Amino acid sequence: MPSANPWEWSEPEWRHMTGRARAGRSLRPSGWPGGARCCVTLSFDADHETIPLRDVDESPMRISQGQYGNRQGVPRIRALLDRHDIRASFFYPAVSALLHPEEIRAVAQEGHEIGVHSWIHETNTKLPPGVERELTLRAADTLEKLSGQRPVGIRTASWDFSVDTLSIIREMGLLYDSSLMADDDAYELIDQNEPTGIVELPPEWIRDDAPYFNFVRFSALRPYTAPSAVEEIFRAEFDGAYDEGGMFLLTMHPHIIGHRSRIAMLDRLVAHMKSRPGVWFATHAQVAAWCKAQAG
Ligand SMILES: [Zn+2]
Repeated sequence: MPSANPWEWSEPEWRHMTGRARAGRSLRPSGWPGGARCCVTLSFDADHETIPLRDVDESPMRISQGQYGNRQGVPRIRALLDRHDIRASFFYPAVSALLHPEEIRAVAQEGHEIGVHSWIHETNTKLPPGVERELTLRAADTLEKLSGQRPVGIRTASWDFSVDTLSIIREMGLLYDSSLMADDDAYELIDQNEPTGIVELPPEWIRDDAPYFNFVRFSALRPYTAPSAVEEIFRAEFDGAYDEGGMFLLTMHPHIIGHRSRIAMLDRLVAHMKSRPGVWFATHAQVAAWCKAQAG
């Protein structure tokens, strides 16, 4: 174990720490399918009730906020995606899928992607040794059984990618991860200078609904940003991706984005993106496969 004092670390120690799950070569392709100039990939982390459960909080109030994601959030999202003829990626904690098996089955049947998102939204970096592996493997099997679709991608809960996560992903033979943030565009993960072949599709809190809207009653966390302000940020992020010919990846949560004022904002954002010529809308799995194949 390295010393608790960073200034005492040897060069091999800090090089080892920064060498884990590091960004390798860029996988930004020179072009997108059908001659499109940019790609848009939308994801919905269907956490539902697992956030309070992860916090060991049995409060029916907080759990009901999660259930809103199932009752109103996902139906509104599915209707919006259907209206715009877009396929998206849905990341499920296994417990959320077990609570709502009819939901995950319907989402998969509509052609959306199902991805791994922990067992019960646990915090990977706080788990005892070996537990993350067991939970991740069990979560993937559970999602496959419930949805009929074998996940090829993972998004760690709260993007809490641990020092063990990359080896678990490699063992599972997954195509991609979407938790790390070293770029705007896809890149290959390297493990202590060794290329892994695993595609990273980087998210960022700047392109996430939660930091702008999430409200926790018994904490100081009360942003409740106006949807128009968030729309301005998301739009500028998309416009930049469009100008550069890159990827626009947006992370949302049904219990957050599903509210009336916010789903209307998402609808306007999608309309804006569709108004620009040459935008390829695809699932994370489709984007990762394209970027990997183009890079050779
Ligand atoms: Zn989540």
